[in-house]
Amino acid sequence: MAHAQSRSFGAIEAPRVVIVGGGFAGLYAARALRDSPVQITLIDRSTVHLFKPLLYQCATGLLSEGQISSPLRALFRSQRNVTTLLGTVSVVDPANASVDLTADDGTVTSVDYDYLVVAAGVDQGYFGHPEYAEIAPGMRTLDDALTIRSRVIRAFETAETLSSREARAPWLTFALVGAGPTGVELAGQIRQLADHALRGSYRRMDPDEARVLLFDGGAQPLGSFGQKLSKRAAKTLQHLGVEFRPGTHVTHVDDTGVTVTDKATGAVENIAAGTVLWNAGITAPPIAHVIAEATQAEQEHDGRLRVERDLTVKGFPNVYVVGDLMSLRKLPGVAEVAMQSGRYAGRQIAASVAGRPTDKPFLYRDLGSAAYIGRGHALVEFGPVRLSGRLGWILWGVIHIAFLTGYRNRGAALLTWLTTLAAGRRRELVTAYGGHSRG
Ligand SMILES: Cc1cc2nc3c(=O)[nH]c(=O)nc-3n(C[C@H](O)[C@H](O)[C@H](O)COP(=O)(O)OP(=O)(O)OC[C@H]3O[C@@H](n4cnc5c(N)ncnc54)[C@H](O)[C@@H]3O)c2cc1C
Repeated sequence: MAHAQSRSFGAIEAPRVVIVGGGFAGLYAARALRDSPVQITLIDRSTVHLFKPLLYQCATGLLSEGQISSPLRALFRSQRNVTTLLGTVSVVDPANASVDLTADDGTVTSVDYDYLVVAAGVDQGYFGHPEYAEIAPGMRTLDDALTIRSRVIRAFETAETLSSREARAPWLTFALVGAGPTGVELAGQIRQLADHALRGSYRRMDPDEARVLLFDGGAQPLGSFGQKLSKRAAKTLQHLGVEFRPGTHVTHVDDTGVTVTDKATGAVENIAAGTVLWNAGITAPPIAHVIAEATQAEQEHDGRLRVERDLTVKGFPNVYVVGDLMSLRKLPGVAEVAMQSGRYAGRQIAASVAGRPTDKPFLYRDLGSAAYIGRGHALVEFGPVRLSGRLGWILWGVIHIAFLTGYRNRGAALLTWLTTLAAGRRRELVTAYGGHSRG
């Protein structure tokens, strides 16, 4: 068992900060400690920081995986007080102030801390049906996005081999579960793939035979955006050709498609679909249950951990839970909450190390939300300002370029968007599907 080396700054031993997770919350926590005399160990089960808001563009061949992710090692190259380790934290022991990380080869290493920041995010939930994951991938990791991309391409390619419209229909039916921002964005993009990017590429079938079905238990898509913008989103989806099916629950998924139940009438319908994509519900990763057991922290029904006003776990003033994994005052699971909470935890630790007061509670400043529906259509909400259509679309682009991590990614994504707009083609679709079987 190895222990993290203690480095000394002058004559004083540097306090050890362990950060679990290099998403938005972990990244901002580490950055907030840039000038603090601490020794940070940032552990992630992936080598990259992922810009999740653009995952759907990677899944539909618009952007490459490199354009929406940055190696954590590169992001912290110049921040000398950060050591990055690849591994999964499987044990948290607050009594002994240490975590165990399991490396890729199975080796377990113990890392001691003075302060712990848990920024492990959330995983895709399946409402008690984890077995659906195999057939209906969610979209939370780069692997998910690449799986979706390959399944979408496979569906069009398989359809091209079939001679009748009836035989092609299941392959050209895309069933999407959940009409939150991710479901809406993905539905819009698949529709635009079929209607624009793939047009003229096939000889035996027309990609616009495709049907994109979007199921949700609510009455409108993008329910969290408020009545006006939700209605606007429903209209835009209709205009794009996405078939939005409100008030429906997907009650079964198998490799022939989905079974949906109408909430109002109870009517049940089986729909043959070659591609089923799941974007409804979340669940906390295993580490949340480990922490809850070790600290008696309360959890929400989805496993997220309840935190105090200063984002610490009750009774453990040196253990912070930030980002999507924390539950506080019904704050939404969005990037801005993750960034602000991560930054806050980092600043609290810096203040504690410097002997400054740490009694200010976390206050979230809502900077609004945005969702992309399709080319020329996006919704942006900022205070009293509500924008949709082309203006919303332009602002959406500006916001996403501004927040995309790394200057190189910003430049590359902007260039790709501009060339795609001009040529109407998606370069990343050349990442061809090469598999044979379903799954
Ligand atoms: C498809 C999609 C689209 C989105 N679009 C938007 C949007 O447009 N606008 C917006 O504001 N928000 C959006 N969000 C939400 C936003 O991405 C999240 O709120 C944000 O990523 C949360 O940041 P986080 O740091 O808490 O978690 P994450 O970004 O999920 O990072 C968690 C990190 O922890 C690591 N990890 C987990 N468990 C362990 C462990 N045991 N050991 C080691 N490492 C671990 C993971 O590998 C990951 O890198 C979107 C989310 C998704 C999935």
